[in-house]
Amino acid sequence: MEKVALITGIGGQDAAYLAKNLLEKGFKVIGTSRRSSADNLFRLKSLGIENELEVLSADVQEYSRIQELVMNIKPTQFYNLAAQSFVADSFKSPIYTSLVNGTSVLNILESIRLFSPETKFYQASTSEMFGESGSSFQNEKTIFHPRSPYATSKAFAHYSVQNYREAYNLHAVSGILFNHESPLRGEEFITRKITLGLSKIFLGKQKILKVGNIYSKRDWGYAEDYVQAMWKMIQSKKPKDYVIATGKNYSVKQFINECVKILKLKTKWVGKGLNEKLINLDNNKTIISIDKEFFRPSEVENLKGNFFKAKKELNWTPKTNFSKLVKMMIKSDLDYVKKN
Ligand code: NDP
Ligand code: GDP
Repeated sequence: MEKVALITGIGGQDAAYLAKNLLEKGFKVIGTSRRSSADNLFRLKSLGIENELEVLSADVQEYSRIQELVMNIKPTQFYNLAAQSFVADSFKSPIYTSLVNGTSVLNILESIRLFSPETKFYQASTSEMFGESGSSFQNEKTIFHPRSPYATSKAFAHYSVQNYREAYNLHAVSGILFNHESPLRGEEFITRKITLGLSKIFLGKQKILKVGNIYSKRDWGYAEDYVQAMWKMIQSKKPKDYVIATGKNYSVKQFINECVKILKLKTKWVGKGLNEKLINLDNNKTIISIDKEFFRPSEVENLKGNFFKAKKELNWTPKTNFSKLVKMMIKSDLDYVKKN
């Protein structure tokens, strides 16, 4: 029988890599995308797969549309990757974020329960749910302490998945993924903001980059490695939740320093707090400064994941380390800036 994967948020970073991966595995892939006046499928095009999958229009908040899709398609696997995924914006649109990331997931679970209980379901949970957990390493047993409307909405969805698994025996799993990046990462996220901004500065197309808190630490992995974990998780015999991470973390400042090293720029950090700056020693100009605008009402200072369970039970390990990831993103953004 034909294996069909339904992926919501098909225009996003993870969906592009996941769709490519599933197509290579012989799945028929159907993606859903909300209507937009701009091109929101550019990532599928950049991976050259836009004609290999079917894209249907659906906002995850349109409950009857989601029910209709589940009822008609009865997918073998359903990956819910659609989300208002930007933490900073969740403080500006908390209710919208909770509807898209929280209640909509409950509707998907209800649709599967009622119309296609054999469908295996994957939910995109997040390390942001740990927030200020108080432990320097987080695993599946670490208590959640969400610090943003994004994180609280994802925690609601996470517990809903757990509840539907226990109450109705659905094959439903949540991947607690730590930050993962790639050349296809959205430009508002800090890694891509830095690689794109510094590439523009390096090529003389921008003067200065303004950022927020450079002392928070993240466990940054490569998106292509992480979508393989999603597949392993949904495939596994017993549905369980897993932490997916690299086990190493770096501050935003260390990320900037790594880019500067790759670009071979001669620079120096000066000043403190909001006055801290990165100076280009070749011309004494400030290339990075700190701006209050990019600070959040409550911050997550330290995320570092322990992926022991995924390694042991799914035989998954990350293949791409920090410096390889940063190099890949800088190389891609230098090419991108030269072409645009
Ligand atoms: P992206 O922001 O790149 O993609 C999210 C997608 O969701 C976009 O295509 C967006 O559409 C779509 N979307 C947003 N709102 C709606 C809606 N109301 N209805 C339908 N689609 C909608 O995220 P990623 O690919 O990076 O992440 C995938 C998932 O994993 C998300 O759920 C995210 O929260 C989660 N996650 C991501 C992590 C990361 O580091 N990348 C870490 C942990 C979890 P459009 O293109 O139109 O904007
Ligand atoms: P998040 O972990 O999902 O919030 O991913 P982001 O890439 O948006 O942010 C990672 C960290 O970088 C957070 O601690 C932010 O506060 C910090 N940060 C510092 N400056 C910026 C900035 O200018 N933009 C973003 N997006 N984050 C910033």
